Amino acid sequence: MAAIYGLQRQLSMSMAVKQISHISHPVVALVDVHRVYKTGSTEVRALDGVNMSIPQGRLVVIKGRSGSGKTTALNMMGGLDKPTRGQVFFKGTDISTFDEKTLTRWRRKEVGFVFQSFGLLPYLTAYENVELPLKIVRQSGGERRARTEACLELVGLGKRAKHRILELSGGEQQRVGIARALANSPSLILADEPTGELDFATSMKVMDLFRSLVDEHGVTICVVSHDPAVEEFGDKVYEMADGRVLEGE
Ligand code: ADP
Ligand code: MG
Repeated sequence: MAAIYGLQRQLSMSMAVKQISHISHPVVALVDVHRVYKTGSTEVRALDGVNMSIPQGRLVVIKGRSGSGKTTALNMMGGLDKPTRGQVFFKGTDISTFDEKTLTRWRRKEVGFVFQSFGLLPYLTAYENVELPLKIVRQSGGERRARTEACLELVGLGKRAKHRILELSGGEQQRVGIARALANSPSLILADEPTGELDFATSMKVMDLFRSLVDEHGVTICVVSHDPAVEEFGDKVYEMADGRVLEGE
């Protein structure tokens, strides 16, 4: 009896610890975020009171049909857009109050973006593309080289470093995109439809890579996708419709 009581106590204590760490450590949280676009006399409620949180060291998937508000939600997390109403907390700080200059500096340090069509410079090499964000923050030569090489290794492209983007397959290009997003060791990686231009097998490999970055390297990732196969990789899945998060995620 005492043993059972002890076990129960232990369980409820470890659950409490888990809950506290979960509450105190979301990398980013949207709190009652609204975003209204006005075009002429019409109003579009792109986000209509959205609450979301991305816990540290987790892979979160946002799914939903086209036009449901996924990209707008992701842009809020990366400080690319500001709420009409509501708050965006990054590690407890409300970034929706930052001015543009502060926001840009913050974004370069804390967020890595991965795009559907990769967003790479085609005539530069894989190495040069990954190195670029480190040049922007003026990282010194030696450190920059080491970090660039490490990121390319991390995505399995160490041997392709000197290839131009043009010479790489779609899957390889997206790996370069992910290596570039990792370069500044950001707190958060935001990926908008990262598998949208890849075939099924390649998409699954890219999602495997995201999964291993989370599981083995503690990276925090939020992936937007309307592909049901992508959803399976998420620790947490939010479904959006008409600018809202549906219940029962
Ligand atoms: P999703 O990524 O899920 O396809 P979005 O977040 O891109 O959805 O868009 C949500 C809604 O907001 C859509 O109805 C879209 O047309 C509208 N919207 C998005 N961006 C703009 C904009 N810059 N101006 C006007 N309406 C926009
Ligand atoms: Mg979108």
